[in-house]
Amino acid sequence: MDEKVIVIGGGFAGLAAAQSLSRSGEPVMLFERKPHLGGRAYSWVDKKTGDEIDNGQHFLMGCYTETLSFLKEIGSTRKLYFQPDLRIDFLDPDRRKSSLACPPLPAPFHVLFGILRMRSLSVFDRLSSLLLGWGLVRSALRRNGTDRETAIEWLRSAGQSEGIRSRLWDIVTLATLNERPERASAKLLVEVIRQALLSDRSKSRMVISRVGLSSLYTDDARRAIESKGGSVRSDASVQQILFDEGRVRGVRLAGGETIAARAIISAVPAPALSAMLPEKVLERLPAVGRCRDLKTSPILSVNIWFDRPLLSQPFVGLHGLDVQWIFNKDRIHSRGDRMGHFLSFVVSNATSFLDRPREEILGRVLSDLRRLIPEAKEAKVLHSVIVMERDATISQTPDTDSIRPGPVTPYRNFFLSGDWTDTGLPATIEGAVRSGRRAARICMEGH
Ligand SMILES: Cc1cc2nc3c(=O)[nH]c(=O)nc-3n(C[C@H](O)[C@H](O)[C@H](O)COP(=O)(O)OP(=O)(O)OC[C@H]3O[C@@H](n4cnc5c(N)ncnc54)[C@H](O)[C@@H]3O)c2cc1C
Repeated sequence: MDEKVIVIGGGFAGLAAAQSLSRSGEPVMLFERKPHLGGRAYSWVDKKTGDEIDNGQHFLMGCYTETLSFLKEIGSTRKLYFQPDLRIDFLDPDRRKSSLACPPLPAPFHVLFGILRMRSLSVFDRLSSLLLGWGLVRSALRRNGTDRETAIEWLRSAGQSEGIRSRLWDIVTLATLNERPERASAKLLVEVIRQALLSDRSKSRMVISRVGLSSLYTDDARRAIESKGGSVRSDASVQQILFDEGRVRGVRLAGGETIAARAIISAVPAPALSAMLPEKVLERLPAVGRCRDLKTSPILSVNIWFDRPLLSQPFVGLHGLDVQWIFNKDRIHSRGDRMGHFLSFVVSNATSFLDRPREEILGRVLSDLRRLIPEAKEAKVLHSVIVMERDATISQTPDTDSIRPGPVTPYRNFFLSGDWTDTGLPATIEGAVRSGRRAARICMEGH
């Protein structure tokens, strides 16, 4: 039998799986359909300005332990900026400035003190944050925990006031689950709060790439895999996974080439995976079929170059507007003397922007900006690039949680990974990397 392991998909999950295998001396071959690696987290160079544009600004957090290990192993850590302690500056349309600035205290007191000092919250709102711990304990004690609850139901039951919900928790929910609190899964939000805010002070700080997403990790990951004898083929679409007597035996590529394998790790989204599976196999993997039909949630990124600087902070969170985040690329990337001043505006769960004309999208974003920063009224737009990722993540509702499959399948040498699988986390980079490394581990254990 052929000795190599095939990994299908060159996003974070696939690259992490392949790197983990090759690092342990496994012969590995990765196939990626597109000409470039990176999946839903990539960047390209804008012809007009020479700037790297991400398909959407991504942020990591200190609690992304598997991602940070992966990036360290491939030699990419130096391209990251780590906040010393969690700090998020907020702006709102009344031009009130406020910050969640956590002092260097042990968790969870750092977050608690941070919230108690947020100027945009009333005394009542601030005090309601003290009930959060009780909400977490109560959920842990309940038999079904938070399984059926939405984020808003859980936040209400945990005594969080309307003010703290709209000025803090809604923004956190949208940023981490890409879904509105009325629909988002409480279970996943609770996991984010536990891992990011309550476990250890260093886990809650934000971590941002100083370079475009592709420059952060794709070449380094390829190099790491190839240096151990593995191979990475882009522009190579897997058309079919081949099964034989209860096992996988290889793949057929779009061009007709057949490649044998001792095991296969899928690291593609559920719709792509189900298209590769024979009908009979799909019947034995009902969770894949159900996940294929899940709704997705879009993320909109509007990149605008202005003739003057408009923001001093590296990024700000917004409250009460369409746009939820502004990232100041002048501060985040080293842009040298490139054209203009580059801001990137992000809208999670951007359903109200889907299929809208370019001028309308730009108009809505600029209108938000002018409400926040009066000087923006005088500023000239030099250039803009709009990116709508329609299927940015699966829509993460309480219903979704129960159907995400784990890594093991009824086929002994076939494993699943990807942000949509059951990672216990929202569909994020950390979920993707964790799932890829976990699938690689199980595969090597000779499951
Ligand atoms: C705009 C945007 C903003 C985001 N912001 C954040 C953030 O701030 N923080 C965060 O943690 N996460 C964020 N995410 C989510 C994060 O990008 C994803 O969770 C992660 O990239 C998913 O990785 P993956 O490897 O599971 O899947 P993917 O990245 O989708 O990778 C799957 C790969 O499989 C390939 N493929 C598909 N079919 C085939 C085939 N037949 N043959 C070979 N290859 C195939 C695809 O081309 C793709 O490269 C964001 C996502 C988007 C879109």
